[in-house]
Amino acid sequence: MGSELLELSLEDKLYRTRFETDSDFHHITVKDPVCRSCSEKLCLYICPAEVYKPNPNDSHLVTAHYENCLECGTCRVMCEQEGIEWRFPNGSMGVKYRYG
Ligand code: SF4
Ligand code: SF4
Repeated sequence: MGSELLELSLEDKLYRTRFETDSDFHHITVKDPVCRSCSEKLCLYICPAEVYKPNPNDSHLVTAHYENCLECGTCRVMCEQEGIEWRFPNGSMGVKYRYG
């Protein structure tokens, strides 16, 4: 049973989570000059929702797909360079839990 859990895709893991996307307000942005000089780019590995991805147009940068953010706060703590500007989504927007 444990191995079955490990084989779940990201979509499977997030199945019970729903989001109200605010297209007018990106609650996560990354800072170009800070990220450009960041060699480890730990944000690509620590986010449970894989919000951070390599920037397809510039290998020195990352992009933040804020729509899938679970609002767990991990990236805010992890990024010691303070390359992330993170604000809570506007009221009634953002993550919603289908169960629980
Ligand atoms: S968000 Fe933080 S960890 Fe990610 S590339 Fe930028 S500075 Fe580095
Ligand atoms: S708050 Fe959590 S889910 Fe949202 S981007 Fe940061 S690590 Fe990912």
